[in-house]
Amino acid sequence: MAERGAQPDPQLFATEEVPKERVHVLLPMPVGDGYDYVLTAGMTAPPGSFVIVPLGPREMVGVVWPEPTDPDLPERKLKPVSEVIDAPPLSADVMAFVDWVANYTISPRGTVLRLVMRSGQQLSPPKPQTGYIRAEVPDSLRLTSAREKVLDIASETPLTAAELAREAGVSDGVVRGLAEAGGLQAIEIDPDPPFGAPDPDRKGRALSPLQAEAAEHLTAAVREERYSAWVIDGVTGSGKTEVYLEAIAETLRLRPSTQVCILLPEIALTLPFLKRIEERFGAAAAHWHSDVSSSERRRVWRRVAEGQARLVVGARSALFLPYTDLALIVVDEEHEAAYKQHDGVLYQGRDMAVARGALGNFPVLLVSATPSLETLANVEEGRYGLVSLPSRFGPATLPDTDIVDMRAHPPEKGRWLSPKVIEAVNETLGRQEQVLLYLNRRGYAPVTLCRKCGERMTAPHSDTWLVEHRYSNRLVCHHTGYSIPKPDHCPHCGAADSLTPCGPGVERIAEEAKETWPDAKIEILSSDMLMGPGAAKSLLKRMTEGEIDILVATQAAAKGHNFPNLTLVAAVDADLGLAGGDLRAAERTFQTLSQVSGRAGRAAKKGRVLLQSYQPENPVIAALARGDRDGFAEAELEGRAALGFPPYGRLAAVILSGENEQKLNEVARALAGVVPHAEGVEVWGPAPAPLYRLRGTYRLRFLVKTTRRVSIQSVLDEWLSRIKIPASIRKTVDVDPYTFT
Ligand code: ADP
Repeated sequence: MAERGAQPDPQLFATEEVPKERVHVLLPMPVGDGYDYVLTAGMTAPPGSFVIVPLGPREMVGVVWPEPTDPDLPERKLKPVSEVIDAPPLSADVMAFVDWVANYTISPRGTVLRLVMRSGQQLSPPKPQTGYIRAEVPDSLRLTSAREKVLDIASETPLTAAELAREAGVSDGVVRGLAEAGGLQAIEIDPDPPFGAPDPDRKGRALSPLQAEAAEHLTAAVREERYSAWVIDGVTGSGKTEVYLEAIAETLRLRPSTQVCILLPEIALTLPFLKRIEERFGAAAAHWHSDVSSSERRRVWRRVAEGQARLVVGARSALFLPYTDLALIVVDEEHEAAYKQHDGVLYQGRDMAVARGALGNFPVLLVSATPSLETLANVEEGRYGLVSLPSRFGPATLPDTDIVDMRAHPPEKGRWLSPKVIEAVNETLGRQEQVLLYLNRRGYAPVTLCRKCGERMTAPHSDTWLVEHRYSNRLVCHHTGYSIPKPDHCPHCGAADSLTPCGPGVERIAEEAKETWPDAKIEILSSDMLMGPGAAKSLLKRMTEGEIDILVATQAAAKGHNFPNLTLVAAVDADLGLAGGDLRAAERTFQTLSQVSGRAGRAAKKGRVLLQSYQPENPVIAALARGDRDGFAEAELEGRAALGFPPYGRLAAVILSGENEQKLNEVARALAGVVPHAEGVEVWGPAPAPLYRLRGTYRLRFLVKTTRRVSIQSVLDEWLSRIKIPASIRKTVDVDPYTFT
């Protein structure tokens, strides 16, 4: 403490400049650290502020990061911040989340910040727009038929010139001309109109006693206003959504500023779901996924950043929106592999949602009929709470499942449906009910071989097979998108008409079904058969209304649809997906088949499921037949525990890829030479990735496994920094890999 009377004389310092305030700015580019800048007189930029700063010859938008600046850097070396953008600053939670995700996924922080900032264009205020409403039409107005069309459409609700012109079927010029002549009144409209305020107290559906009990647990957790993670585990159709809507309502009641984020796998983001939310809360939710237009994205981003949008429904990237008071995240269909991001920052949306809740100190709800094994293990170990809804809502019951042992009841030669399945289809059609034949394989045949020389058709410079699609008469690669018209001659040996399809895809099963049931109405549902959302909608409508007798479908049919008259689901190849060396192969097969089975008997009629299998004793198939999800999970978890695999250990993949095979091998060998030898750490590889050659690039893979006590991130950081990897070789680190391609 300074002694009394020893105050410095202010005069002494009068000539010395007051040091300028310094800020550390993180930029949305692939670097881990930010740079220091100085604020010029009059500028204030608290942490989280968006600022424009010089970087080399350019200017960039970045964020003032809550981190100390470097005191050893002399001020003359620091450039000044050019401008502080007039936008709400990022909250401390969002910034802590960026740091956490970067650290967990071993990604540069700037790259993660880019997930939050997007293009940055949404930061500049939108251009004001002019809208037109009806006006007192002056007598002097010259009316043409085009102008009359516009006047018929104009109302009290402002529309832009383009919108009015489109609806009236005239040019924009007609609208502007009419406005200048006094026929329309121009007013300024908000290009980012606010979202309606959700009303938590609108009456929801009356809950069943089971639902009410589940909802009570969750609303109590919400009222505690601190982090907790909950699993809503209930069979398909048990009313899980109704239950979590109650938790959302309670969150909205906490404060007028609270926000809720509902995550869905992209594919499940449907209009009926958005409608359901809107009905419950009387206001549309902001929605966020890849199909949302760029202007709507700007609107959502800005309104979320202002705290005005309180309900967000979105795909995994909605986690990175700039919430101001996020107080609940719901992850629906939490087991879905679609939550894993496969390029850029390789994150698992569900896991990041839980981390976001922990950092922001609020509850997270994970919802599924077939929770992931990671989630079940977390329940078992007491980290997550559990609420269960064991039966379907109302009169619907779960279908009976039987295995068709294909060794005992094989199909005719060159066919794929067992006589047992044919018999069951006959019975079902006889009762005027519907059938779903499920095979998760697009196209006609997965492999095309030359009968003469044995050549297997692959995409150029790739190890991927070409799949025959009869519908378009092309051979298509599902990995690279490469496609060619089906050749008449083998490109290898030149033999004519020798290319033979091997194995079935949905198109081949539909062909067999048409031959077996010539009078039935048969259609195919598969992502590549649909000409767009319109065609898909119309097909689903025909199926719902009973106009289709047999639907042959891939996984596209597994999700969320409700076909009241569908009572038989037959899986053509239940074993598909069990092979393939993927850690989660069995788990995923179980989940998908359960989901598909869940389509049968959704309404009052009892459903039946048949699984065609060549290995009925396989634990996955046997558990499915017994309806024994918990038994399956237990056996599978035991297996993982014995091997130290997730969730009982940690896993990461390091993939090296490059066009020069020799160089790639050299780098891989060098890395292999310095693998860490530490307790609880194992490294396998390098091994060729399952798709070793893809579009002329070669790919080698290391797999790192550690115990849970070890920080796999530190192990990877340390190991990978030992070798300088040349620019021609690309290195990808995937913590918690989901596919091993
Ligand atoms: P899940 O999310 O478990 O698949 P949903 O919440 O979608 O189940 O409910 C399944 C069906 O049952 C839906 O059609 C839903 O409208 C209906 N339902 C669920 N709970 C209720 C309830 N309390 N009152 C009326 N209908 C309900």
